[in-house]
Amino acid sequence: MEKYSGVKFKTIFKEKKKIEHKGIEKLMTWGKKFVELNLAPKIEGGFAGNLSFRTLHGFIITASGANLSELNDDDFVEVIGVDVNLKQIFVCGLKKPSSESFLHHAIYTKRTDINAVFHGHDQITLKFGDKLNFPITEREQPYGSMELADEVVKILNMNCNYFLIKEHGFISLGKTMDEAGNEAIGQHKRVIEINRPDKAAKNK
Ligand SMILES: [Zn+2]
Repeated sequence: MEKYSGVKFKTIFKEKKKIEHKGIEKLMTWGKKFVELNLAPKIEGGFAGNLSFRTLHGFIITASGANLSELNDDDFVEVIGVDVNLKQIFVCGLKKPSSESFLHHAIYTKRTDINAVFHGHDQITLKFGDKLNFPITEREQPYGSMELADEVVKILNMNCNYFLIKEHGFISLGKTMDEAGNEAIGQHKRVIEINRPDKAAKNK
């Protein structure tokens, strides 16, 4: 996979201030859990994952390169506008938003029923995903690109809240952050269970 080298868009700060929202504490908890369960492992330059929830004006997302296992209150950025053509993202906050902000934005636009988008790199579901019929993007695309967001939008449907990005990772969705988080853990455990040596032998 492509090496992480920061965001691929221009961040325009509408307001440079610390973001306050009652949902932030919950997002901190889920960041920690994702790292503990290896759903968002540490990589060079940051962590392989980004989490967000919908707000009145857009969504609040973890900052680019944030330490998900120890999120501080300045590690949250509210994305309030996206200009796809100019590759600009308008934010309130103190840091740049996650490199996958285009992806989160595209999902919130298409799935109006969803209020939380969690993305991570779960090697287990990625490896065995084809056996479980998870929807998976067709073509591999560079991280943080519009092309990646477009690929994901193609496979989004209303009946499924867990998707794989080819050679990359997963996205779990929920009406709440707990729903999105538990979906990611549930699918992770399901794949481990199915691949237990005794079960795997029986399924042959
Ligand atoms: Zn990723």
